[in-house]
Amino acid sequence: MNNGDYFDCNFLKEVLPEAQVDFDKSVRERYASDASVHSSTMPDAVVSPRRTTEVASVLSAANDRGVPVTPYSGGSSLEGNAIPVRGGIVLNMAELTSIDVDAENLQVTVGPGVVYDDLNDALEPHRLQFPPGISSSDVATIGGMIANNASGANAVRYGETRDHVRRLEVVLPDGRTIQCGRNVVKTSAGYSLKDLFIGSEGTLGVVTEATLSLTSIPTRKRSAVVTFDAERDACRAVSEIIQSGLKPGAIEYVDAESVGYVNEYTGLGLEPTPTLLVELHGNNDGIDDDVSVARSICEDNDALSWVDEDGDRMEEIWQARRNILYAYEAHREEWSLAADGDVVVPIARYPDIVKAIERIADHHDIPIPVCGHAGDGNLHYSPLVDVDDEDSVQRVDRANQEIIEAAIEMGGTSTGEHGIGLGKTEFLETEHGEAVEIMQMIKESLDPNGVMNPGKVLPEP
Ligand SMILES: Cc1cc2nc3c(=O)[nH]c(=O)nc-3n(C[C@H](O)[C@H](O)[C@H](O)COP(=O)(O)OP(=O)(O)OC[C@H]3O[C@@H](n4cnc5c(N)ncnc54)[C@H](O)[C@@H]3O)c2cc1C
Repeated sequence: MNNGDYFDCNFLKEVLPEAQVDFDKSVRERYASDASVHSSTMPDAVVSPRRTTEVASVLSAANDRGVPVTPYSGGSSLEGNAIPVRGGIVLNMAELTSIDVDAENLQVTVGPGVVYDDLNDALEPHRLQFPPGISSSDVATIGGMIANNASGANAVRYGETRDHVRRLEVVLPDGRTIQCGRNVVKTSAGYSLKDLFIGSEGTLGVVTEATLSLTSIPTRKRSAVVTFDAERDACRAVSEIIQSGLKPGAIEYVDAESVGYVNEYTGLGLEPTPTLLVELHGNNDGIDDDVSVARSICEDNDALSWVDEDGDRMEEIWQARRNILYAYEAHREEWSLAADGDVVVPIARYPDIVKAIERIADHHDIPIPVCGHAGDGNLHYSPLVDVDDEDSVQRVDRANQEIIEAAIEMGGTSTGEHGIGLGKTEFLETEHGEAVEIMQMIKESLDPNGVMNPGKVLPEP
């Protein structure tokens, strides 16, 4: 555990009711880390606002005193995004949990602390869903998803979080509260400020309310587990399915190594070969034609088997996919996850990035199982390392760097959903070049005192 710089936060007692301000060591410890591999750092205080005006009062008081503020919701970030690396205040947003469904306009207005699964439970009686999907659906909150622009298995059909945000209420670092966007399907009125805050990881302001567009829950779903002899065939099948114009509800690639770890962890007994998990969504019989198209593309790419799955068995397989990080971690006691990468490449390059990671893993002699939301060109890679073996830790760092550079070189991005956080700042310039200077200017103009989640996203000037 690191210690950030110490900031005297006693002023918070004058800003919020006593019960909403915590200096307790055990509470501060809880908010010192997220789900990533990055080291934790103790904040000096944790505050839990219950309304927008309280967020505004905290930010304005902290800004006046130059005290860092790190927003925090579910704490499930995988890139250190929510770790208060400079100490100061953790702003726990988990208590803002209002849900106001506007079914007639296919939208919902929520507090940022609402958990993804809870939102979809509340929408289900209306036959509506907030659909990007996220494997951490039982902990990730809407505020955290907006801040990281998160998404998961279903983004290939329904889009990422950004695609569903109509309006945001945001408190700026100086305490001003602004509305960004409108509750309509489209608008051309002015700069799209909401897009600036989506994916900004709490470095520009704090989201206190969001209106999200929804989709109806499909009445029909068909799923299959498809196995291949060679990873290249599986990946080419994905590229061709997307190029054919099909919009699967989900299409996930899981390499043979990952299937092996999943079998060990769950006892599911899947064929340990490169595998696709395919799910098609629809509201009429057209879904059967979609299944035929997807199946024939897989068969043309030498699929070994296409097994239609549904009901409990398929849910177990999806659950295993959502828990795959735990399967990796459980594989060998002395091994730890050294990163959870989430590069994205243009869909036609998917087979190439899978091959490149295999080559890099072999070269550095490190196990790097991969899986991912293949239909989006998104690939997760998870190097496993014995943390007591300094040499292998260094090899992992080099492998991670080479993988990200390979993805960017292919026209892709260093991160499709986890954000830049602490771990990927060094690649921002390679990806965006001079645009990073413009990002620095935006940051400086909105947060001149540098109090909002310092140390994240942008490289140190
Ligand atoms: C097992 C596992 C599986 C995962 N699977 C996925 C996946 O499929 N897809 C995916 O995208 N991610 C995944 N993640 C990562 C993580 O769940 C997401 O990044 C998620 O969006 C984080 O939400 P959170 O509520 O936990 O936010 P936190 O981790 O608490 O915070 C995330 C970021 O948002 C900022 N923030 C929080 N609230 C606000 C607010 N109200 N206003 C402004 N900034 C705010 C924080 O400062 C931080 O920078 C996974 C994580 C785990 C542990």
